[in-house]
Amino acid sequence: MATPKTVLVTGGAGFIGSAVIRLLIAETDVRVVNVDKLTYAASGTALAEIEDSNRYAFEQVDITDSAALKRVFETHDPDAVMHLAAESHVDRSIDGPEAFIQTNIIGTFRLLQAARQHFGGLDDDRKAAFRFHHISTDEVFGSLGDEGMFTEETAYDPRSPYSASKASSDHLVRAWGETYGLPVVLSNCSNNYGPFHFPEKLIPLMIIKGLRGEELPVYGDGQNVRDWLFVEDHARALWTVLSKGAAGESYNIGGHNEMSNLAVVQTICDLLDRHAPPLAGGRSRRELITFVTDRPGHDFRYAIDAAKIERDLGWTPRETFESGIEKTVTWYLENAVWWQPLLDRNVLARVGTGTTGK
Ligand code: NAD
Repeated sequence: MATPKTVLVTGGAGFIGSAVIRLLIAETDVRVVNVDKLTYAASGTALAEIEDSNRYAFEQVDITDSAALKRVFETHDPDAVMHLAAESHVDRSIDGPEAFIQTNIIGTFRLLQAARQHFGGLDDDRKAAFRFHHISTDEVFGSLGDEGMFTEETAYDPRSPYSASKASSDHLVRAWGETYGLPVVLSNCSNNYGPFHFPEKLIPLMIIKGLRGEELPVYGDGQNVRDWLFVEDHARALWTVLSKGAAGESYNIGGHNEMSNLAVVQTICDLLDRHAPPLAGGRSRRELITFVTDRPGHDFRYAIDAAKIERDLGWTPRETFESGIEKTVTWYLENAVWWQPLLDRNVLARVGTGTTGK
């Protein structure tokens, strides 16, 4: 595929979307149009270093708003869409699934319709190069036992309102490819972590609570396993899929970093003991870990087989979990100016009892 000139990124003010936009502005020549509603999860300052670029434009738009989407496509005339906008927190989906159905399913449907209409008006060369890239999760595949990995052929088996809404949107995207000829490509990724991760998610939550010497609530017995990927490695993988991936294909993205939730929290405790001011009485932060009632329907294990993207597109992660988590802990220690205002807005009210990767 020819490198796109203009990429429309939805959800670009979020954790992964902002990493994608920082990468596109820093390392490519493409113009970026960020379409974001700016929900509670958006972080304006995550884009501070690029927002003055003349290759960056922002549109505050809800992806369920068809008229606004039509205007955005007409105004910016993109060659590709990277669709990341979503409600993304599993615990919130259990408490209030409505927003997940609206944004993740209806929003994806409206975006597909707008993209389809735009695609229909392109000339043949631009049609051949156009891509609609849907950014999805490994959670659509359900839960693994002790053995095995998710491949691109694994049958869908979503088990939470979040993962069911993402599975629905994956199916819609494939259907728009098959039925209407929209050149779609999908990627399903494991748990991300890194800078600008909203503090309701496991890793930033544990870093901030551990820094402050608060209890560290871990679901169940902490043995649930997730496969972790540094967010900048994911952003690079997404650009690889968009610029090199074949239309109609899907690619699994993962970091070969399977860890139990308990091991993740213990690693964070040890890094904080090394890099942060010591706790009173010289206590180890591991002593702050407490086990709390498990999440309903908590998937036991996710593990990604990323052989296809490595073999066909030549992508491999740059960070190991050890290097990425140390960078992340250090970033949170140095950037309280980013997360403290979020805590002041009481964003953690929902997660008093525990959390997991997403
Ligand atoms: P996030 O919650 O940090 O960001 C989501 C962004 O979407 C926010 O900026 C929000 O304002 C925007 N948004 C929400 N509803 C919108 C709407 N109706 N219209 C326009 N914008 C809207 O999410 P994230 O962690 O960056 O995840 C991005 C995408 O990647 C999601 O689709 C998610 O399912 C997927 N994903 C996430 C992970 C992970 O570990 N975080 C892993 C795999 C896949």
